[in-house]
Amino acid sequence: MDLELNETQQLIADSARDFAARVVAPRAAELDKTGAFPTETVRGLAEQGLLGVNLASRWGGAEAGVVSYALAMTEIAKACASTAVTMAVTNMVGEVVQAFGSEAQREEHLPKLTGGEYLTGAFALSEPGAGSDAAALTTVAKKADDGWVIDGQKQWITNGGYAGLFVVWARTGGPGAKGISTFLVKKGTPGLTIGRPENKHGLRGSNTVPLTFDECRVPQSALLGEEGMGFRVAMMALDGGRIGISAQAIGIGTAALEAAVAYAKDRQAFGRPIADFQAIQWMLADSRTELEAARLLCLRAATLKERGAAFTREASISKLFSSEAANRVCNRAVQIHGGYGYTREFPVERYLRDVRITTIYEGTSEIQRMVIARSVLS
Ligand SMILES: Cc1cc2nc3c(=O)[nH]c(=O)nc-3n(C[C@H](O)[C@H](O)[C@H](O)COP(=O)(O)OP(=O)(O)OC[C@H]3O[C@@H](n4cnc5c(N)ncnc54)[C@H](O)[C@@H]3O)c2cc1C
Repeated sequence: MDLELNETQQLIADSARDFAARVVAPRAAELDKTGAFPTETVRGLAEQGLLGVNLASRWGGAEAGVVSYALAMTEIAKACASTAVTMAVTNMVGEVVQAFGSEAQREEHLPKLTGGEYLTGAFALSEPGAGSDAAALTTVAKKADDGWVIDGQKQWITNGGYAGLFVVWARTGGPGAKGISTFLVKKGTPGLTIGRPENKHGLRGSNTVPLTFDECRVPQSALLGEEGMGFRVAMMALDGGRIGISAQAIGIGTAALEAAVAYAKDRQAFGRPIADFQAIQWMLADSRTELEAARLLCLRAATLKERGAAFTREASISKLFSSEAANRVCNRAVQIHGGYGYTREFPVERYLRDVRITTIYEGTSEIQRMVIARSVLS
């Protein structure tokens, strides 16, 4: 793995950092407070090419690769984790369509996703009764004369209230993974109802909703990939998505560490800055070390994906380590802030709430350990 960034990667990282500092960061605290959706910021992400970082330029993507995507995600997440997950899921939807869609599906949807016309994309796999065990999903799609009729419920769908395009997994055959297919459903399709946004612990500026499909009719052309290959599509998409969540966790952790360093230099106790105390220094050292390790694991998984090599295990290792390390880093940052860290006066309180989800979504830490253990034992 080349540890030096190439020109494109450096350019994307620099422009994402600049956009994050100018546009994303100043709005982060307010989004967290009000739960408003960052519509204008998302349009800005589209203008920056950040809604399709790894998509081909002929579809309006930046065609900058997976490493660039991870670097950009870290920069945006450092400024606002809610905006970052909005960006992550939209990129993921674009990659699914690029990888598995027909030429007609790519032509129809990708320019609208990358250009902001759809605003965002949504990835609708989880259900009220099927999260980690996604193969147990019960949403069904039945063949009709002119296409498919979808019935069922989805849960926890990021961007659902603001998405122009939904990638939806539904059962078209028997039980288990082999009976699942993938569909592209456009916003406003009759029979698709968007539920009330969840009142979340963190990521409060992101939109998470349940979806109901009630005799939702879609044309034959809505089927993405072959009938029955939906589970494979989902798992491949999640492998890539885990690199994005790993990068998001690193961004949140980095913001928390920077805040902790600044506070430790400023805060006085026993007549000296608390940064003079070894107990504080060791917390800062541990956080820097863990974030650096997380960054290298993330870039390794991204590099493998970019090369077209197998990366399932590395993506899980990266997601597991980064998300758990970033939780520790944010926790230490609150500790270093003492009582002030427990108030909304300082951003570390938000970082700790935002980072919590990273060990849960796109596969919990337990599921990552299952994936890694399977590979270790094979
Ligand atoms: C804010 C947010 C946004 C989300 N966005 C999306 C989205 O855009 N699209 C989407 O499809 N989903 C989304 N999700 C869903 C998310 O991916 C699931 O919540 C996650 O996969 C876990 O599923 P679950 O909540 O049903 O928990 P469960 O699967 O019920 O797990 C409960 C607990 O049991 C553990 N567990 C389960 N099975 C095993 C096992 N075999 N061995 C050991 N432990 C196990 C889990 O690790 C967990 O600790 C989102 C969730 C949240 C909270």
